[in-house]
Amino acid sequence: MSKPFKTLDDMGDITGKRVLVREDLNVPMAEGAVTDDTRLRATLPTVTELSDRGAIVLLLAHFGRPKTPSPDLSLALVTKPYEQVLGRPVRFIDWDGADAAVATLQPGDVALLENTRFFPGEEKNDPAVVARFARLGDLYVNDAFSAAHRAHASTEGLARTLPAYAGRAMEAELDALAKALGAPEHPVAAVVGGAKVSTKLDVLKHLVARVDHLIIGGGMANTFLAARGVKVGKSLCEHDLAGVAEEIMAAADRAGCTVHLPYDVVVATEFRADPPTRTVNVHEVAADEMILDIGPAAVEALGDVLKNCRTLVWNGPLGAFETTPFDRATVALARTAGALTVDGGLVSVAGGGDTVAALNHAGVADQFSFVSVAGGAFLEWMEGRELPGVTALTR
Ligand code: ADP
Ligand code: MG
Repeated sequence: MSKPFKTLDDMGDITGKRVLVREDLNVPMAEGAVTDDTRLRATLPTVTELSDRGAIVLLLAHFGRPKTPSPDLSLALVTKPYEQVLGRPVRFIDWDGADAAVATLQPGDVALLENTRFFPGEEKNDPAVVARFARLGDLYVNDAFSAAHRAHASTEGLARTLPAYAGRAMEAELDALAKALGAPEHPVAAVVGGAKVSTKLDVLKHLVARVDHLIIGGGMANTFLAARGVKVGKSLCEHDLAGVAEEIMAAADRAGCTVHLPYDVVVATEFRADPPTRTVNVHEVAADEMILDIGPAAVEALGDVLKNCRTLVWNGPLGAFETTPFDRATVALARTAGALTVDGGLVSVAGGGDTVAALNHAGVADQFSFVSVAGGAFLEWMEGRELPGVTALTR
């Protein structure tokens, strides 16, 4: 099937062509070392392929949030760690003298350009900055889905200026997301959990019209339960959003989407590791108790829902999974979803910072069809928003 965007397969002969490649190299660092190299590794398919095909690979990325150029937010700091992950030499190129430095590069060379945000116009998508980047390259590849929700010079402007292609990681992400919510196989289930309804209102509103089952867990389930008259004690709960929760449930009803709220929950009077807990029906939560996870009966029922679904999108843990034993429901349902995916019956796509951590904790991230590490961009996609960096590729 032809894709709505061009990929590296459409580039033809790129020997000696200068290819500007937007990647996400915004890695966490401590004492000069990269503490999590997931983002560096994600670039390898695109960068090695382009280099092997004889292109001059010019990496563009932002690093932190510099107000002005500063040495502690220079991508020079990432060059050595990146070189180690890539397993081939990487030349760092400062903005001063960039044109001359690029002119000395040979086919197959990989260079890392300085932090794009050292130009104040980068985040404003300033045409002058777009032109400054564009003159360094012949072609443009966007491989950074996680930065695609912002219309910046290096994400959106360049795609409109040079012949533009999706990199391999971008392509995989867009393919997976299209399968999950673009044109999914039904029935579709969505798990939405996490701390607060207020951060995911748009996600919930978008999903009710598209999925057959909306499974609500985490702290946000408390808000929905409270809206239905359940007394949630000292639980995290946004009582002021009761009306909004009711609206969402009504919209789901109209759209033929079944909303699943837990009917049993795990409660404690203190929030710490391994406190005394009770597993109770939602109507039995005491005034001094907090709901910190959904209960085993709910998890079993939700597993049965997933067994009858063809597609699953998941954002947000079902409980306070960082603290034992409140990881149980998330781990159990994630393992069910992982097993169903491995069996071939389910397409499962998950994303969100804490969700990825929770799936890793459950040991099932590699069983899911696709796990997005894109954070904000993934959430905006879950909200049904257009991502300017993606739109610019699909013109
Ligand atoms: P993501 O980063 O995947 O989008 P969120 O940031 O929305 O997810 O939510 C994750 C947080 O929600 C976790 O820190 C988790 O501890 C918290 N959480 C989940 N359930 C509860 C609960 N019942 N009470 C309090 N916090 C909860
Ligand atoms: Mg989070």
